[in-house]
Amino acid sequence: MNFTSNLVWNRTGAELSLPSLCTDAECDHLIIGAGLAGLSAAYHILKKFGARRKVIVVDAHPLGSGASGRNSGMMGPGIGKQYHLLVKQYGDVKAREIFAHTMEALSYSTQLIRNEKLDCDLLIGSQFKVSTNAANDRQLQLEGEALIAAGFEVRAYDRKAIKGIVDSPVYLAGLEYKGTATINPMKLVVSLAKEVLAMGGEIYVNTRCASPQEHTVEANGHTLHFSRALLATNGFTPSLNRLRGRVMPISTSLMLSAPLLPSQRAQLGLQPNNAIVDVRRVFNYFRITPDHRLLFGGGAPFYSTENVQRRQRDGTPEAYKIYESLNEGLSKFLPQLANIRIEKVWSGTIGVTLDNFPVITRGQSSVDSMAGCCGHGLALSLAYGASYANWLEELSYSPELPWYRSSAPYLAPPALLPLASNSYIKFLRWADSFSGA
Ligand SMILES: Cc1cc2nc3c(=O)[nH]c(=O)nc-3n(C[C@H](O)[C@H](O)[C@H](O)COP(=O)(O)OP(=O)(O)OC[C@H]3O[C@@H](n4cnc5c(N)ncnc54)[C@H](O)[C@@H]3O)c2cc1C
Repeated sequence: MNFTSNLVWNRTGAELSLPSLCTDAECDHLIIGAGLAGLSAAYHILKKFGARRKVIVVDAHPLGSGASGRNSGMMGPGIGKQYHLLVKQYGDVKAREIFAHTMEALSYSTQLIRNEKLDCDLLIGSQFKVSTNAANDRQLQLEGEALIAAGFEVRAYDRKAIKGIVDSPVYLAGLEYKGTATINPMKLVVSLAKEVLAMGGEIYVNTRCASPQEHTVEANGHTLHFSRALLATNGFTPSLNRLRGRVMPISTSLMLSAPLLPSQRAQLGLQPNNAIVDVRRVFNYFRITPDHRLLFGGGAPFYSTENVQRRQRDGTPEAYKIYESLNEGLSKFLPQLANIRIEKVWSGTIGVTLDNFPVITRGQSSVDSMAGCCGHGLALSLAYGASYANWLEELSYSPELPWYRSSAPYLAPPALLPLASNSYIKFLRWADSFSGA
């Protein structure tokens, strides 16, 4: 099997040709990290304050090198845990607020893409959560019942009905979340960057920042002075000595097939505006791209060391290992496609917190941070960029977010994090196999 692993989505951003920082500079807002969170924050600050505020965005690598340019482009609601478990932990009212907030983030993001005509192959459709065994089928049923009782618009599918959406011999049932979207995330990164530039923002790539100090940070041997900085470095934040032990860099993977034949598409049945996610603790997910390729992901996440992150950018030599792990899921859930040709395999680093909620901090200091959207970062990152810009006008240090806490729970000291994270993932996989998933 011959596949590439460093091209990911087509780099339509090449024509942007962004500079690196080559002199000292001064700004009102420095955004460190040009992923969707950082670009959205820059966009919304410029939209809100216009030319009154100078905004500079810097990234250590070319545009879209982080999770934002490597994800599966499935924009859906949800945060934390399954809805009925949110109810159990936080009670009806708070759980409802938390979930409604993610629905609002989803709808805000799709509207933003439409209103600003951000070119990213946006397709509105549905996301289907599917069950794979009796134990998680019961959990999915409880989730559906709790969502319906809370007034959310979801629809339950039995085995026969879910087969009409996607033909898998394994799936027992499904839960449809409407109004979700599929996009090309790399195109979205580029489109958003263009908007930032058009409004007078500056973007510098291949510009690695050191850990920021009060109102100043070193980058590429130059000094950047700022009134406020936002660390939008997600899974890479601990390498800047922030949120260490609280945001875990976790590697997760995807593979992309050659275009499916019409007969294979007919066998699968899935439409390009829909997406499938199974409900196991360590799960698989997939969708069809507009050019008829299968994008299949999930499987075996693991702690992403700085070495792993470098190999992700360079094209990982572990491509075959990743392929084997993803192919195991593909053969199990979509056996009719087990022998399709895979053209690309890649992985990316996400920021994960122990309670699966993001962490947004605005301290008394001049450095804020936004990280840890886990696997829900598409809609949330775009929406939190807007929240951040609004927040800058307020005196409050805690934003109006229903899940808000001042920091993420502490997992382990940095030296133990790889072991602690990998052991936790192993435990989750064990729990899945114990329950027969
Ligand atoms: C394989 C995969 C599949 C996913 N699928 C989905 C999905 O279907 N739906 C969904 O909602 N989410 C998904 N996600 C998660 C989603 O991609 C992320 O939550 C989101 O992109 C996070 O955006 P971000 O801007 O916070 O982080 P990133 O895009 O990672 O941006 C952080 C940036 O910071 C830069 N940086 C790091 N250190 C420095 C430094 N010292 N100086 C300057 N810059 C620095 C990095 O180069 C990077 O560009 C997926 C992620 C992966 C990896």
